[in-house]
Amino acid sequence: MPAKILDGKALAARLQAEMATQVQAWVTQVGRPPGLAVLRVGEDPASAAYVRGKERACERVGIASFGRHFSAQDSPAHLLDTIGQLNQDERVDGILVQLPLPPGWDPIPPLLAIDPGKDVDGLHPLNLGRLLRGEPGLRSCTPLGVMRLLQAEGIPIAGRKAVVVGRSILVGKPLSLMLLAADATVTLAHSRTPDLAEVTRAADIVVMAVGRPRLLRADMVKPGAVVIDVGINRIETPAGSEQLVGDVDYEAVKELAAAITPVPGGVGPMTVTMLLANTLESYKLRSQLSETWV
Ligand code: NAD
Repeated sequence: MPAKILDGKALAARLQAEMATQVQAWVTQVGRPPGLAVLRVGEDPASAAYVRGKERACERVGIASFGRHFSAQDSPAHLLDTIGQLNQDERVDGILVQLPLPPGWDPIPPLLAIDPGKDVDGLHPLNLGRLLRGEPGLRSCTPLGVMRLLQAEGIPIAGRKAVVVGRSILVGKPLSLMLLAADATVTLAHSRTPDLAEVTRAADIVVMAVGRPRLLRADMVKPGAVVIDVGINRIETPAGSEQLVGDVDYEAVKELAAAITPVPGGVGPMTVTMLLANTLESYKLRSQLSETWV
């Protein structure tokens, strides 16, 4: 039986509509909208497109944008000063620096400069430490989006074998900790894993976060497994046009998996939605609408 398609785009739209309604009510109560500052450096076209997408999503739910754009010739000290000002700015609940930065810009100092309470990308060491310790706090958006998608679709996690392929600090590592916190038995595979197919075939839930087009083939998946594709790869079709594909051979794997995310329209829209959710969490805490992180 073909897999259930996990429609992240539809879920994201539903969650954003709920957020818009909540924000309207909170603005009356608090007297200001939630605020997010997305900081971009240089002219990378992909980064520019991601930032535009984030700002449009903010607009849809009623979050005010305080974004800044720095030229690649600007000084890293100026970026740090701006982060310092945004940390103090009461209108701003979330700050993120769009990665990658241009050559010569070290991403670590700006990351450390962000107030951990406004770190809506969940990448500050304090927030990563909270995740490791199993304490509430801001979580990184892509892994959080994967977890919300699994939960919303009623996919059981506890007691199941989950394999995450890819060990980046952005996706693979935090996601493996989140699955562990949800009581899965987790394996984290990577580029030096000798027999990837053997590892993935044992999984009830496979998450691909690598960045290699169609790396996960049908013969690497146990029939009935849940397959989550985080990968985003731009490939050229035989006709010479550009196509967006994930890390999963979608057409073949969907014939034997129990459930699968498409690319595009799976994890991507959930990532942006979790950025909004994190900004709202920070806003609620800072406006005393809630007492703790969720
Ligand atoms: P990364 O390059 O930082 O990490 C890739 C990981 O894949 C590494 O840990 C590496 O060990 C592993 N890897 C590389 N080749 C491998 C192989 N042949 N077999 C097994 N493992 C291998 O990438 P990242 O930032 O974690 O992103 C991964 C993918 O997810 C990319 O395609 C990226 O564009 C995409 N991504 C999507 C979203 C989203 O919102 N959907 C968000 C972030 C990243």
